[in-house]
Amino acid sequence: MKTSENKLSAFPPDLAAAQAQIAALEQALAETQAREERYRLLSDAALEGILIHERGIILDANAALGTMFGYAVHDLIGQDALMLAAPDTRPIVAQKIATDFSGAYTGTGLRRDGSTFPAEIIGRPILYRGRAARLAVIRDLTEVQAAQEALRRTQERYRMLAEHVRDVIWTMDASGRFTYVSPSVEYLRGYTAEEVMQQSLDQVLTPASLAQVQDYLQALQTDSIDPDLLDPDRRYVLEQPCKDGSTVWTETKVNLIRDADGRPIGVLGVSRDITERRRFEAALAQERTLLRTLIDNLPDSVLVKDLQGRFLLNNAESLRRMGVSSQEETLGKVTADFFPEKAAEWDALEQQVIRTGRKLVHEEGIIRSDGDEHWIRSTQFPLYDQQGTMIGLVFINQDLTEQKAAERQQYELEMERERTAVLERFIGDASHSFKTPLTAMRVSLGVLKRTDDPAKVAEHLNILSLQVDYLERTLDDLLNLTRLDRDLTLELERLDARDLIDAAVRSGRTMALEKGHTLEWQRPETGFQVFGDFNRLKRTLDVILLNAVNYTPYGGTITFGVKSEGRQVCITVADTGIGIPDADLPYIFNRFYRVDSARDVSTGGMGVGLTIARKIVEAHRGWIKVESVPGQGTTFKIYLPAAQ
Ligand code: ADP
Repeated sequence: MKTSENKLSAFPPDLAAAQAQIAALEQALAETQAREERYRLLSDAALEGILIHERGIILDANAALGTMFGYAVHDLIGQDALMLAAPDTRPIVAQKIATDFSGAYTGTGLRRDGSTFPAEIIGRPILYRGRAARLAVIRDLTEVQAAQEALRRTQERYRMLAEHVRDVIWTMDASGRFTYVSPSVEYLRGYTAEEVMQQSLDQVLTPASLAQVQDYLQALQTDSIDPDLLDPDRRYVLEQPCKDGSTVWTETKVNLIRDADGRPIGVLGVSRDITERRRFEAALAQERTLLRTLIDNLPDSVLVKDLQGRFLLNNAESLRRMGVSSQEETLGKVTADFFPEKAAEWDALEQQVIRTGRKLVHEEGIIRSDGDEHWIRSTQFPLYDQQGTMIGLVFINQDLTEQKAAERQQYELEMERERTAVLERFIGDASHSFKTPLTAMRVSLGVLKRTDDPAKVAEHLNILSLQVDYLERTLDDLLNLTRLDRDLTLELERLDARDLIDAAVRSGRTMALEKGHTLEWQRPETGFQVFGDFNRLKRTLDVILLNAVNYTPYGGTITFGVKSEGRQVCITVADTGIGIPDADLPYIFNRFYRVDSARDVSTGGMGVGLTIARKIVEAHRGWIKVESVPGQGTTFKIYLPAAQ
């Protein structure tokens, strides 16, 4: 209005012209009003804050600006526009106004409540109601910046993900051409994603791996959809060539992409490098093969059972010994299925290992499925898992049959050597034993040839007769010994030990009297029954009595006795003779053993008497004991089982 008034004040004298001018002015005014009205409507509808100022003094503002800064619009009119800028932004704003800058810049807005916000300001000079003014459009960037920040973070996350995830993500169309390959493919195969995009499938997969996915690719291209083949979560283990000529193994998961009609149009895949895993698995498999080869080639039977006694593993030798040809035949079975007669005994041993957790070794003879007897040493110990829980038992069964046979052979060899040595000793002893009496006989014969003296003849005939007796006895002993070695069948009868002693005393009396010995024997009232071979037992007593006579100096006493000791009948023969040194006691029953081997055989025999005696007693399931004090005497005790 003011403008039109101003215009009217310069009123021209020409009325018509003036009227025309007025009309034009009114027209201009109406246009201006209409424009301002439009502008207001527009600016009030705008979301940005709009402000018109003249050298910093606010002339007009829209509703959005009031809301943005927390003022009522009319309160802003006439105020300094700089009050809407935060102190640090004011110099910038002032400078833009001063230079009549036209364009956008950012700063910090200051609200009425003192809070601030990031703002974008677009400033430019305008003509406002005919005056040179400036228009400022202000945008609150808070949300924009937050969104930008969120976007930046998301992008950062994806970048991080892409950098750190080595899996290769790719898409492919139905014809088998790549439509996308993630950059991580370069880690996997050495080719960049761009290079891979150009590759055909036979450059991406080794021939064997390509063959593996052929069905899938075919199903992809044909209309008939095999639901099994195009399974949504399908995995392949594939070998892929690398740029450097090597290959990598991937586990590739494929998902079908379908169009709106459900037709397959492509594949989304994720490929993961499993080369390491495969190498590890291969090493593991190799180790297993090695172990298996090792245990299968062991001469020992090796087997593993679970805690319920079921077979889990048998090596080749174990299967052979069990008489089966494959592991399948033993799986889930127990000892009783193969060795029913041994099951109880062996199960008890296994239980012992499970209970104690300790290794157990035991040896025994078993009859195998082949019918042969085998001597086995079984070592069993617990098997633990990585957590230390007992999960089974391991058995290592060594066949000792051959070893035992070798040992027996060795033993027999040694026995043979011993026998040879004994024989040599015997020949030495025997030749000595025979030579002495033979010499004596030769001397006597010589004398007899030359003399007629009846006294001498009688003396030498006597010597000859004694030596013949001796030779006969010695030969008897030897024959007896060999006979006993070969066959010791007893003619058992119920007999009284007292009668045995009676007989021995009767036949030994003369011999004892010749040496001036006294024989003492007080026959008890009650009997002492034994089952025995009378003649053989009498022979035993004869040997012992003969020794007592021989190894007791002239005028000694030899005492017989009999008593019960528990379930045994004990016959004793005690002399008052030279005794036996402690060191010799353990050996006197040995063949040809004599305490003083240089001693003349005329006092005693060849060292076989006690051997014979003990053989006979032991055949009766009895035993002989000897007690002796050198210089004082010796007592032999013969124990025989009492007859019930
Ligand atoms: P021998 O034919 O030499 O008597 P024996 O086998 O009967 O052989 O006895 C072995 C050895 O035991 C004898 O050579 C002797 O040294 C010793 N011996 C046996 N009985 C007696 C005993 N009553 N007193 C002392 N020594 C004895």
